[in-house]
Amino acid sequence: MSKIYKEIGIGFIPVFLVFLAFLGVNVIPILFVSALGGSLLYMMKTRGGIGAAAGGGDRKSKNRTPSFLTFDEIGGQDRAKKELMEALDFLIKHEEIKKLGIRPLKGLLLTGPPGTGKTLMAKAAAHYTNSVYMAASGSEFVEMYVGVGASRVRDLFKEARARAVKEGKDNAIIFIDEIDVIGGKRDGGQQREYDQTLNQLLTEMDGIHTNDAPRILIIAATNRKEMLDSALLRPGRFDRHIEVDLPDKKGRLAILHIHAKNKPLAEGVTLEQTADQTFGFSGAQLEGVLNEAAIYAMREDKPAIEQPHLASAIDKVMMGERTDKETANGEKERVAYHELGHAIIAELVRPGSVSQVTVSPRGKALGYVRHNPPQDHYLYTKDYIEDQIMIALGGAAAEEMIYGGRSTGSRNDFEQSLSMVRNMMDAGLTSLGIIDREMVTKEQLMKENAAILDALMLRTKKMLDEQRSVFEHSFAILMKEEVLSGDTFRTLFDASVSQSA
Ligand code: ATP
Repeated sequence: MSKIYKEIGIGFIPVFLVFLAFLGVNVIPILFVSALGGSLLYMMKTRGGIGAAAGGGDRKSKNRTPSFLTFDEIGGQDRAKKELMEALDFLIKHEEIKKLGIRPLKGLLLTGPPGTGKTLMAKAAAHYTNSVYMAASGSEFVEMYVGVGASRVRDLFKEARARAVKEGKDNAIIFIDEIDVIGGKRDGGQQREYDQTLNQLLTEMDGIHTNDAPRILIIAATNRKEMLDSALLRPGRFDRHIEVDLPDKKGRLAILHIHAKNKPLAEGVTLEQTADQTFGFSGAQLEGVLNEAAIYAMREDKPAIEQPHLASAIDKVMMGERTDKETANGEKERVAYHELGHAIIAELVRPGSVSQVTVSPRGKALGYVRHNPPQDHYLYTKDYIEDQIMIALGGAAAEEMIYGGRSTGSRNDFEQSLSMVRNMMDAGLTSLGIIDREMVTKEQLMKENAAILDALMLRTKKMLDEQRSVFEHSFAILMKEEVLSGDTFRTLFDASVSQSA
C-alpha cells in the first residue's frame, strides 16, 4: 500500500512543481530544502538512525528467535554440540551455579572454517535455553566515524535486555559473527574506531552479572581465532572455546540426510556414496550439493534426484558451473592426456580411487579428475604424500610423454606439489631431517625440494610409460564421452593392463 502512495507521490510532486513554476512561483528554494531533507533522511536510514541498533532494518528478520531450530537439525558436530550444551546448562541452572559461587558464563567462542554450522549452533542455543536471539556481524560495527561502532554495541545490549523483558524471557543470546573484525589485536594506533568498539564490548561483558535477569550470553564466531585480542579471551570473557570442525564422513552423511528430508530421492540413491566423495566439504557445501542435485533433476524433468545428479552437483560445488569455453584445436586432446595422466597414476598407487575423469570445462578448470579418498585422513605418512605428489605430477608427465613438453595447465598441480613438499619438510620427513626453517639456508631448501620433485617426476614418467596402452584405450572414449565414471575408467584400465600382460 505504502508503495502505491510512494509512486503517486513521485509522479505528483514534479507535476506540481512544474505547475507552480508555470504560475510564476520561484521553486528553487523548495527544491533546495527538499534535497537537503532527502539526503538527511537517506543518511539516517543507511546509518540505522541516531541511536538505532546496529544493522538497521534487515536486523529484525535476523533476530527472530528461531523456535524451529534445534540441535537435532545440526548434522555431525557431536562433540561441539555436547560441549555447547554443557556450557548452556550453566545458563539454565543459574541458581545452582550461584550457590556454588561459580562465576557466570558470559562468552562462548565458536571457532572453525566457514559454513560449518556456527550460526546454526547459536540459534539452536537460543532455542535450547529459551532465550531471545539477537545477531550481529563484526563488520556491521565498522564505521567511518569514531564512536558509532561503540554506540552500536551499547544499543545491541540494550535492545537484547529490552526484548527479553518484553518477551518475558530470562535470557538473551547475542550472536556476533566475524568477531575478529572488531576483536582483532588492538594496536592503539590508527585503528581507534575498532579499539573503541572492542573496548565497549569488553565493558558490556564486564557489566554482565549472574543474578541480573535477563541474563545475557554472548556467542561469538570466528575462523581466525589467532587474530583475536587476548583481552577478549581471558577468563571471565570468552573463556569457553568450542571448535566447530569440518565434518567427518559420519557427520557428512548426517548433514546430507538432514538436507535431503524435503527432497525426493530416486530409488537406489545412496547418500553414503556422496558422503564418501565429499571429503573436506563443509555443511554449507553439502547443503549446496543437494540443492544443486535437485536443480539438475528439475532441468531434466525428473521427479526425483538420481545418483548422476548428485555426482554433477559435487563437481559444481567443488569446481563451479560447466562453462562453454571453446577450446582451440588440439587443446582438448592435451587436456584429455593430462587428465588421463593423473587418473592412471591415481589408479596405480591407490587402486579404486578414481571417481570420475572429465574433459569438459568447469569453473576455471579445463578438465579434472575427482578422487575417492579411501577414508578421512588426518595423519599422512611419507609414502602417502609421495603418492599424492605423483598423482599431481601425472598430468605434466603425460603431456611430456605425448607432446615432448608441458603447458601452463600444470600450474595448479605444481602449486599443490610444492605445498606437499613443504609439508614433508616441516614434518621432518625429508633428508634434511627435523628442521626449523630458520636453521637451513634457502639454497638447502631449494636443493631438497628439487631433489624430491625430480625423483618423483622420474618415477611418475616411468610408471606412465609402462601404461601407454591405457592411454591408447581410453583416450578416444574420453574425448567422445567427455566424462568417464570411475568404474568405466577402471574397466578400460584393467582391459588394457590384461591385454598388454
Ligand atoms: P560462517 O563462518 O561463514 O558464518 P557458519 O559456520 O556460521 O559460517 P552456518 O551459517 O551455520 O555456518 O551454515 C550455513 C548453512 O550451511 C546452514 O544454513 C545450513 O544449511 C548448512 N550447514 C552448515 N553446517 C551444518 C550442519 N552441521 N548441519 C546441517 N546443516 C549445516
